Amino acid sequence: MKICDVAIIGAGPYGLSIAAHLRARGVDFRIFGSPMKTWLTHMPKGMHLKSEGFASSLYDPGSTFTLGAYCKEQGLPYADIGTPVPLETFCAYGLEFQKRFVPDLEDQWVASLQQSGAGFQVTLGNGEVFNARRIVVAVGLTHYDYVPPELAALPLAYMTHASKHSALDYFQGKEVAVVGAGASALDLAALLHQAGASVQVVARVAKIRFHDPPDNINPSWLDRLRSPVTGIGPGWKLALCTYAPLVFRLMPDQFRVEKVRTVLGPAPCWFIKEQVVGKVGFNVGVTIAKADVQNGRVHLELADSTGAKKTLTADHVIAATGYKPDLRRLPFLGPEILSGVRCVENTPYLSSHFESSVPNLYFVGITAANTFGPLLRFAYGAGFVAPRIARHLARSASRNLVKRELVSNSGSTAPRETAEPVAR
Ligand SMILES: Cc1cc2nc3c(=O)[nH]c(=O)nc-3n(C[C@H](O)[C@H](O)[C@H](O)COP(=O)(O)OP(=O)(O)OC[C@H]3O[C@@H](n4cnc5c(N)ncnc54)[C@H](O)[C@@H]3O)c2cc1C
Repeated sequence: MKICDVAIIGAGPYGLSIAAHLRARGVDFRIFGSPMKTWLTHMPKGMHLKSEGFASSLYDPGSTFTLGAYCKEQGLPYADIGTPVPLETFCAYGLEFQKRFVPDLEDQWVASLQQSGAGFQVTLGNGEVFNARRIVVAVGLTHYDYVPPELAALPLAYMTHASKHSALDYFQGKEVAVVGAGASALDLAALLHQAGASVQVVARVAKIRFHDPPDNINPSWLDRLRSPVTGIGPGWKLALCTYAPLVFRLMPDQFRVEKVRTVLGPAPCWFIKEQVVGKVGFNVGVTIAKADVQNGRVHLELADSTGAKKTLTADHVIAATGYKPDLRRLPFLGPEILSGVRCVENTPYLSSHFESSVPNLYFVGITAANTFGPLLRFAYGAGFVAPRIARHLARSASRNLVKRELVSNSGSTAPRETAEPVAR
């Protein structure tokens, strides 16, 4: 059976950045997934990124091909701060990054992963089976969409998660309730309105808290000292999360899980405010007491803090209710692997090199956030992860290579693996 040194599952900002670094280091690897698929098919067309331009790049080893460099090449508007990045620009940039730095990407779905000897047996969607010594799981949010129990029982024809929507033209002329108070909910509300839908936002919070626009797009060093500008937002708290993920890892479980849940909680971008205020309906400070379908329409019974109830009806409900990382939801992880991964809140404990308690199995991106902090919920975190994990994998690849050479030179009868790591 064919064997490769490292297999990367997922071709979003993390998988592609790691692949670019492994390639530059000559590590033998394969990477699987449809490039930038989350961004191309699970986010609404017309959306703008929440992260600033300087924090919306993928990472090649020299950090030369940034979003800024791509926009300059293409003659597209760009600023480090204050110019929202269109989703379409970010997707085109990500695809170009893949072509230049990860040309050997295999657009295949990983169907299953089993332990096999000292490594793993990987089965692809096209039926190919091969062995890999190390696995990097970089699947982003794909499998983690969360629908609250009060909506989960509604039939799919009437209720969908926000991640199911890219084009919104289907909703023209329809009445849509969007549940949620974060960027995803308000982005969708604005874009549905623009697509000709009549929109009602339903949120538990008493007030939708829009982010403030950046007040200073050219901060002086003194401004930066007072409130550092980081790739995940301004201020010292976020600076600690951005620059000290390895320190964050050493904090007690409860602290880490709490911070990942609460730091940078749901809040829409400043530039969405004018696109929704006065244009969509707001039902805030309410919980959904009951949801059902009557005569082809969804009925949501909303209760406020005083217990007063009202009914909202719609053609369709979109749950923009976020994502909950949970290893049990990764369909390719076999039960043997799953039971071997030590977890906190169903996400893996990881070494400082992203390795789980199952040797040679690594996790990055949001699945690793409960270990390394909020930074890993954002593409910006790939700038920390990619060089670090690539250095580690390259170092251990050469150690393994030396070990195998020694075994083969000593005339051992131990079986040699069919393929040694090769430089690309
Ligand atoms: C509406 C919305 C807006 C967002 N805006 C921002 C923003 O402005 N800035 C920001 O930094 N972050 C934003 N995020 C978060 C964003 O999703 C992450 O930052 C980013 O995608 C992380 O990259 P990733 O590589 O970990 O994951 P992804 O981009 O999700 O890539 C993972 C890839 O793995 C693939 N995959 C999954 N399972 C398999 C399998 N079995 N086999 C093969 N491939 C597989 C998926 O198809 C996917 O392409 C947003 C998220 C949402 C939902």
